[in-house]
Amino acid sequence: MEVLFDSLGLSEEILKAVTEMGFTKPSPIQAEAIPSLLEGRDVLGQAQTGTGKTAAFGIPALEKVDISDKRTQVLMLCPTRELAVQVTEELRRIAKYKKGLKLETVYGGDSIERQIRSLKIGAQIVVGTPGRVMDLIERKALKLDFVNYVVLDEADEMLDMGFREDIDTILESVPDERQTVLFSATMSKPIMGIAQKFQEDPVQIKITRKEVTNENIEQTYFEVKQRGKIEVTCRVLDAYDLKQVIIFCNTKRKVDEVTEELSSKGYSVESLHGDLRQTQRNQVMAKFRSGAANILVATDVAARGIDVSGIDAVINFDLPLDEEYYVHRIGRTGRAGLTGKALTLVAKDEKYRLRQIETYTKVKIDKGVIPTFEDIVGVRKARFISQVEEAVSTGDLDLYEDMLGMLHHTTGFTTEQIVAALVKINMGVQKSEFADNDLAWDADRDRRPSERGFEKRGRFEDRGGRGEERGSGRFGDRGGDRGGDRGPKRNEPGMVRLFVSVGRKDRVQPRDIVGAIAGEAGIPGRVIGSIDIFDAYSFVDVPERDARKVVEAMSGNTIKGKMVNIEVAR
Ligand code: ADP
Ligand code: MG
Repeated sequence: MEVLFDSLGLSEEILKAVTEMGFTKPSPIQAEAIPSLLEGRDVLGQAQTGTGKTAAFGIPALEKVDISDKRTQVLMLCPTRELAVQVTEELRRIAKYKKGLKLETVYGGDSIERQIRSLKIGAQIVVGTPGRVMDLIERKALKLDFVNYVVLDEADEMLDMGFREDIDTILESVPDERQTVLFSATMSKPIMGIAQKFQEDPVQIKITRKEVTNENIEQTYFEVKQRGKIEVTCRVLDAYDLKQVIIFCNTKRKVDEVTEELSSKGYSVESLHGDLRQTQRNQVMAKFRSGAANILVATDVAARGIDVSGIDAVINFDLPLDEEYYVHRIGRTGRAGLTGKALTLVAKDEKYRLRQIETYTKVKIDKGVIPTFEDIVGVRKARFISQVEEAVSTGDLDLYEDMLGMLHHTTGFTTEQIVAALVKINMGVQKSEFADNDLAWDADRDRRPSERGFEKRGRFEDRGGRGEERGSGRFGDRGGDRGGDRGPKRNEPGMVRLFVSVGRKDRVQPRDIVGAIAGEAGIPGRVIGSIDIFDAYSFVDVPERDARKVVEAMSGNTIKGKMVNIEVAR
């Protein structure tokens, strides 16, 4: 039998809001949890990211809260600021027609004074991280005496982050007469311990994997040599025209490596791993959400619970060690009725794990064909054609209409030659270090050394004679080499060279500079040119027209936590 929202006995205000949000029917966890919570039961739920937990615990909370009473009645604990903000935003949308409701989000890294002032005015629902909630309790700014509904969201993650004691203390300060909701992706012993200690006869809900393995996610794997993985990643990004992508790696080290490689190829990429401070995490996520970075490279734990809509694809750079993680990972795409792709790069020694995942998820993952260099050129050509169409149809070409004549006249080349040259300049396809047949598993037996490099040496082969560059990014390629082993040199035409007062000794990397400039000045990362990093300072090329904006935006700002001074280089 199909459950609809209007059969759950919700108020008009809530029904209207969720309908507007495009929720037609409750997700499995919502269908199970909402009625029990409305009845006043405790709930212990195991469910993965993307199953709709927020509304599952949020809707009953909103139904129960007494608007006429300003005191805090609901407390929701989340592992990170990011998740706390996400939960609050979702609740605000659901509570759109509930007038008089006040929600407050509290987390570290933001002014505690401001949070104290807001709490003084009164908030019926408080969403926060355990650490900051503790601080606010100690400062007597947050009173839990009237709380009758507590939520522990992503409880396993909170334990992983070392919040066990805080959680205990907080729950002990909430009156016993209350409902306790506990959601966790995994049900470990410590989680069961918390449930036993703080819940009363909870209704247990487990959303099985079948329900989480999304049908609208197209799953494909590629048999690829370990050392070909970066190249295949680039090709896949290009061939599928992916705009918002999460790449998962098993370790922090791999995250760093992949981030570095992609960023040196000109992709706009950010990384997320366990070592980042909260403020850094927030910056990274803000860039990814806003599209200032198209690619997020992350470990499983760091990306837990993050809900970004509109992710085209998840790439498994490594195969996850745990089948459950695979399900988690791919659940980031194909959200809210959209379709998504899950692309998995499988080295030979990972093949058995792929089989394990297939057995576990009961889904057959299709084998994909690695896009060839020609495929990539084809994709770029098609994209170029549509760009030309668009440019012609939007008009405003008067200034340039005499160009073909001028080119003919001054160079003596044929129209074909001129167009080919323009396309080459514009497409920026670079030859790859890898031969197509050097990427897949059983490639390099019987090959002569002379066959290294691209067999198909066409017009798009080379770019400016820098033979070592390969597989450029569709997010534009950088005009120069990355890295700091050369002296400062002349900037390229149309670009201005800026001096940046941080360098290698500040552990600054090109992507930090690109990230900071793109994020702060609001210019796309791809227009930023070469970067040279020296011990104590760096140089970066930016387009002439953006130079002032960059200097102004960066003044008083930090890169990698260090105050920077940026000025036009002399
Ligand atoms: P979780 O906390 O389990 O990871 P969220 O509560 O963040 O999941 O929900 C994931 C996404 O699904 C959100 O964008 C949310 O708005 C959407 N969503 C939740 N419930 C429904 C529903 N019943 N129908 C359609 N979309 C939903
Ligand atoms: Mg959530």
